[in-house]
Amino acid sequence: MRNNRRSFILNFGIAALGMVLGRNADKTKPKFRARKGAGPIFISTWNHGIEANQVALEVLKKGGSGLDAVEKGVMVVESDPDNGSVGIGGMPDNKGNVALDACIMSSDGNCGAVCMLENIEHPISVARKVMEDTPHVLLAADGAFDFAISKGFKKRNLNTKNSKQAYKEWKKESRYKPIINVENHDTIGMLGMDDNGDIFGSCTTSGLAFKMRGRIGDSPIIGAGLFIDNEVGGAVATGLGESVIKVAGAAIIVELMRHGYSPEDACKEAVLRIQKNENTKDIQVGFLAINKAGDIGSYAIHPGFNYALTINDNTSLEDSDYLRN
Ligand code: ASP
Repeated sequence: MRNNRRSFILNFGIAALGMVLGRNADKTKPKFRARKGAGPIFISTWNHGIEANQVALEVLKKGGSGLDAVEKGVMVVESDPDNGSVGIGGMPDNKGNVALDACIMSSDGNCGAVCMLENIEHPISVARKVMEDTPHVLLAADGAFDFAISKGFKKRNLNTKNSKQAYKEWKKESRYKPIINVENHDTIGMLGMDDNGDIFGSCTTSGLAFKMRGRIGDSPIIGAGLFIDNEVGGAVATGLGESVIKVAGAAIIVELMRHGYSPEDACKEAVLRIQKNENTKDIQVGFLAINKAGDIGSYAIHPGFNYALTINDNTSLEDSDYLRN
């Protein structure tokens, strides 16, 4: 009996050692490599990504960095007053204030974010300043606003005629329904790969339309709405932020790619995890991912999610695969 126990311990010990050595052996594998000439590539959520990608590519062509490209690209959408889900003209919260969330992540692993930022046109640029000029990652609400002003950003009313009208309509019933369907959501999340194969990302939104004041979604949360690991790839999310946060959406996709999943399979697995958590009948979430080789993928819960893809100087709008109707 004793001998059996001893041999079990011995065998178990050898097996465990094998696992440890195996794991170390994995570490000696070559790191993921950028496929030569794969970049530049830009992928962005929804059709507003078309213009954003084109601007991002121009920035690179004019000698800007990958970080400049993903920042300037999404700024176009932030400045569009007719876009009801990002920047100026974004849908207000349930008190009528346009409160913005954004984050940015660089290929060196650095990142910055702002949430519940009001009266500033470009939250993505404030997020970049948080990354570059502070020892912090995320600034919120008044603190983020004061910081923005101290960095020279101008105060600006982000409500437009359309957003005020939409709020007035919503107020009639004031039905609080934190559910995302095709009408009440949008975010621009962008992933970019430069000519060197380095990966960058940005994400900016006014969040869920008529959200509870103070509610923060996934978009400014590094690891949920956006994650980059320049050895592996990057991912961004759009849709119901609560569902994305619960599965650490973007981080999990990058981690799955590290373990061999293709970008599309990794996005699908993240969607399946959401499906495991909750009834997805009325919830939309869409993910985009890129790996170090320049392969891209997407997956959504429901049909309707599309994304802009810029590769080899061409930009197209692509429909994502999805889980269910
Ligand atoms: N993800 C955003 C949020 O939950 C909204 C969206 O993408 O539509 O705030």
